[in-house]
Amino acid sequence: MREYAIAAIPADGIGPEVIAAGITVLASLEKRLGDIKFNIENFDWGSDYYKKYGVMMPSDGLNQLKKFDAIYFGAVGAPDVPDHITLWGLRLPICQGFDQYANVRPTRILPGITPPLRNCGPGDLDWVIVRENSEGEYSGHGGRAHKGLPEEVGTEVAIFTRVGVTRIMRYAFKLAQARPRKFLTVVTKSNAQRHGMVMWDEIAAEVAEEFPDVTWDKMLVDAMTVRMTLNPRSLDTIVATNLHADILSDLAGALAGSLGVAPTANIDPERRYPSMFEPIHGSAFDITGKGIANPVATFWTAVQMLDHLGETDASARLMRAVERVTGAGILTPDIGGTATTKEVTEAVVDAIYSSN
Ligand code: ATP
Ligand code: MG
Repeated sequence: MREYAIAAIPADGIGPEVIAAGITVLASLEKRLGDIKFNIENFDWGSDYYKKYGVMMPSDGLNQLKKFDAIYFGAVGAPDVPDHITLWGLRLPICQGFDQYANVRPTRILPGITPPLRNCGPGDLDWVIVRENSEGEYSGHGGRAHKGLPEEVGTEVAIFTRVGVTRIMRYAFKLAQARPRKFLTVVTKSNAQRHGMVMWDEIAAEVAEEFPDVTWDKMLVDAMTVRMTLNPRSLDTIVATNLHADILSDLAGALAGSLGVAPTANIDPERRYPSMFEPIHGSAFDITGKGIANPVATFWTAVQMLDHLGETDASARLMRAVERVTGAGILTPDIGGTATTKEVTEAVVDAIYSSN
């Protein structure tokens, strides 16, 4: 029996609904396979915790999480708590504290989902976007001088380090190498930003020498949006900065048909700490408690979690089950169906039991 300790942090809004669905599906995998066990511990951190204790998680929170094999995260954010408290109080400290520097976002058009692009269906768009998750434009450096005065100046400084760029580049090349097409696109804006972005290009070329079997090309981020839209088949694995990949992965989610099914993994590739798996969507308070939250992104990120744990048979089974269910048209309202969270979850559980 292979056992894994999973920390579940459902947090806010629909987070608890989709994480509960995810845990149900993991339990059915356990039963179906018989040789793996998930020991799941629940953490009640988030905005309700903040309202009681004045913090989003206890001060020794990271210490409590350290011993787990993975973190299964719901969503964070509440209408009556400012974003800088929710985000900076829970999700970001985990990403930064555990040096989860690779943010990995698979994008595919699932069966049964109608994407917005004409002549683009399942199989035509199969990407993994790797987002640098530890520095760059979101490093928080900058400031404001002469605040409120006519001569006010605001700066937003992007920090790129050789260590930071090299490690994300190496991760992306390795990932591209493991995929059938062995093809990587490196995105920058090195025509207009002539320092850190040129360094990205140079480091890409250096790291590429370590991966002679991977084909790669370079794109400027503006042209990249056009290529993603007009020629999606020409792309496979993509690596970009924190800001660029943030924007491109929203576009990718929309082109694949829905943000509501998009998963993401925050990975520490060196495995010094637990990695964190979550749906891309937020807490969605407008539908909280209605039982119609789409659990597919949370199932898909469980697929990523199982892959990370080396349980590739379980992950493939779960992905097949999800695709059977979406393909059968069992969809929540956000993607054009009428099914509830519970109905989609039960259908996935059935598909897992009936799979061979
Ligand atoms: P954030 O502040 O992190 O952006 P949010 O609460 O605004 O969080 P989003 O993820 O941006 O939520 O989603 C925007 C809207 O899309 C939600 O208000 C909801 O109506 C819908 N939505 C998002 N995720 C889902 C889901 N899993 N199932 C169904 N609808 C969803
Ligand atoms: Mg939003």
